[in-house]
Amino acid sequence: MRKFVVFVFCLFVTLSVSSQEKKNFFQRLFEKKQVVVHDTTYVYLVYYQIDTVSQNAENGPEIPMPFDTLPTNDRFQKVVLFNDNTWTYYDIEKPVLPDSLDSDHWYTDQVHAYRDIQLKDLPDEIDIPLIDSLHPYCIPAEGKIVSGFKLRRGRPHRGVDIDVDYGDPIYAAFDGVVRCALPPRLTGGYGNVLVIRHVNGLETYYGHLSKYIVESEDLVKAGDLIGYGGSTGRSTGAHLHFETRYMGQPFDPERIFDFEKGSIRSAIFTLKKNYLNIHSRNGKSDYQSKASVKRTVHTVRSGDTLGAIARHYHTTIDRICKLNGISRNKTLQLGQKLIVK
Ligand SMILES: [Zn+2]
Repeated sequence: MRKFVVFVFCLFVTLSVSSQEKKNFFQRLFEKKQVVVHDTTYVYLVYYQIDTVSQNAENGPEIPMPFDTLPTNDRFQKVVLFNDNTWTYYDIEKPVLPDSLDSDHWYTDQVHAYRDIQLKDLPDEIDIPLIDSLHPYCIPAEGKIVSGFKLRRGRPHRGVDIDVDYGDPIYAAFDGVVRCALPPRLTGGYGNVLVIRHVNGLETYYGHLSKYIVESEDLVKAGDLIGYGGSTGRSTGAHLHFETRYMGQPFDPERIFDFEKGSIRSAIFTLKKNYLNIHSRNGKSDYQSKASVKRTVHTVRSGDTLGAIARHYHTTIDRICKLNGISRNKTLQLGQKLIVK
């Protein structure tokens, strides 16, 4: 039972105290050593009875003294114990998610957040601003790509594997907020994994880490050290498994970064829907990517028209045009290959 209705304010050292009245009160606290050291940050606990600050300050000796803190399930909240056997919660400064960050589908306890979003729900094409003068990029790890975005032994490999040694530094690719930081038992094959959600709308995944040094809801800047290379999870040797995703759908990270040169390919990235397919790799034409998904391909013969081809395959001219990125007025060439389904 609490004897008092207690309001606890915690202010960090970096914050200045605005009112003179409060400053005096702080000075008294200092004199009485009513300062709690918490997590290497000095936290001033100021507490009032319902009356005014100054009156309470005058009645100083009767104010209970904080003497310890206990953790709760919420890392941004602690329990403060007072010397009169009362206690209260206090909130530690929690980073505010940037306004431009998509706060929907925000899960800190699972790797994939957009489970209810399907490919058909996404736009055919979207421009994603990757960098500008205020928001730089960073290649997440130095090393060669040893495995790409592709089907591998019949399983989709939804990212790139970067050859790193155990303990090599891993960096955040763009500014953002750590959505989840999870250990191997919660992540399937990813091992120790970090997922960062970026203000540009992308999420980046960093898998098989030996260790991560950030936690969910930490703000990170491009180039911040976030963890170390390792081989946790489904892995046969130290490497970084790096994924880039939009609304949960993965696409080839090599479309964004030239890992060999250590550079970004463009400031604005146009993500096309067909990139969100395991067969669609950077450097392959859309046609090659689509053809490899076991599309039906028609080779144009003499006398063919788009209308006739559409009828023959029970589809529409618009659909064929869209699949091939051509207009309705396009003159067909003999021998030209068209994806029809
Ligand atoms: Zn991998």
